[in-house]
Amino acid sequence: MNMEKLIELDKKHFIHPTSSIQQQQEQGPKMIVEKGEGIYLTDTNGNVYIDAMSSLWNVNIGHGREELAEVAAEQMKKLAFSSTFSTFSHKPAILLAEKIASLAPEGLNAVFFTSGGSESNDTAIKLVRHYWRIQGKPEKRKIIGLGRAYHGVAAASTSATGIPEFWNMAGKMMVDIYHADNPYGNGKEKAIASLRAVIEREGPETVAAFIAEPIQGAGGVLIPPKEYLQEVRAICDEYGILYIADEVITGFGRTGKWFGIENFGVTPDVISFAKGVTSGYIQLGGVIVSDEIHNVLKEKSKGTLFHGYTYSGHPTATAVGLKNIEIMEKEGLVENSRKMGEVMLEGFKKIKKELDIVGEVRALGLLGAVELVADPETNKRFAPELQVAPKVIEALHQRGVICRAVTYEGTDIICFAPPLIMNEEQVNTMVERLHDAIKEVRESLSR
Ligand code: PLP
Repeated sequence: MNMEKLIELDKKHFIHPTSSIQQQQEQGPKMIVEKGEGIYLTDTNGNVYIDAMSSLWNVNIGHGREELAEVAAEQMKKLAFSSTFSTFSHKPAILLAEKIASLAPEGLNAVFFTSGGSESNDTAIKLVRHYWRIQGKPEKRKIIGLGRAYHGVAAASTSATGIPEFWNMAGKMMVDIYHADNPYGNGKEKAIASLRAVIEREGPETVAAFIAEPIQGAGGVLIPPKEYLQEVRAICDEYGILYIADEVITGFGRTGKWFGIENFGVTPDVISFAKGVTSGYIQLGGVIVSDEIHNVLKEKSKGTLFHGYTYSGHPTATAVGLKNIEIMEKEGLVENSRKMGEVMLEGFKKIKKELDIVGEVRALGLLGAVELVADPETNKRFAPELQVAPKVIEALHQRGVICRAVTYEGTDIICFAPPLIMNEEQVNTMVERLHDAIKEVRESLSR
């Protein structure tokens, strides 16, 4: 089938997620991807691109790994699907739960599986409410998130998301979810004061949990000061509030550690994960809970826990997850993420020295960002109508690099989350192309 026909069918029948439906009708898909290999994607015209976002921050071990296809095929032939509801179980889910427990921070040892990040955060929020309810505290049900957070698009995860655009479609979906200021742009002290103020305003006896990504991804790769998350943990303990770390992006090696929260010397009560657990080869997510929560559930959760997805612990998905982690361990990809992240950050710093529209640059492992500003001295932003970050993304696309712009609240941030298999030469190529793309846009601005 030719491109024209594919585009026509796409416009007619396919409603794309997180997209402008009007733009799709006018322009059709910009790119129809045909093939993935390593860090590269190839489109139907034969153009090759560095997948500098690991697609949706998830293809951690890179594209086209036959071992994963083989393990999926073997599992499908043997037992493609079987339930894990109630007293049913199977080997891949048991072994993956055990493996994840062994990688998670100490004291978090029990896993509930889902099919993705949104379901994981909805599960985490329901579980923490349940935890308090079965201890005779049903009023402890409020959740506090952060501005610019992204937690997904199911009912609770949409509500916990702190980017108001996500509430436009159908309103905030769940009640009793509130937001505190982010340290980004506000500073640590103000963010801590804001969290305290929200807890005090709502009454700590009504707050079930705080939820945050260790590093906000969709918000613009916002790395908080280490002390901020440590103080958050202390505040949660002081007020008797659980701490949920959304590790959907930061889990499974992305930041140079198995879990992003390890960089901050903090242990949460609950971790939600998805994406990197299977490197996106198949849908899988989950929630890891602390021994304390697990013990309370074991002792006090009477009768059936009415929460479970048909695909919770899907045999094929969990078998792929196990193989994915085995490959990450065998190839030392967590350590590679840490090392290559340093190379990437050095490259960003060099660009900052050379081009006068680069503001803050940051990275932890292979999760990084470059901010574009009108004046790096004062951090003055560009007027939104200049569309500086989207123009850089376009210039990068023309140079064979796919990455993402974040423009909420007038920011111009270019995000990077390339596959963890990147080598030094590939990182340098990606960074050189970024330099050239920013330079081109810089020049067009002064004309
Ligand atoms: N949490 C975070 C931090 C995410 O980045 C995402 C997706 O990008 C989600 C949750 C939602 O995950 P999913 O799209 O798999 O539902």
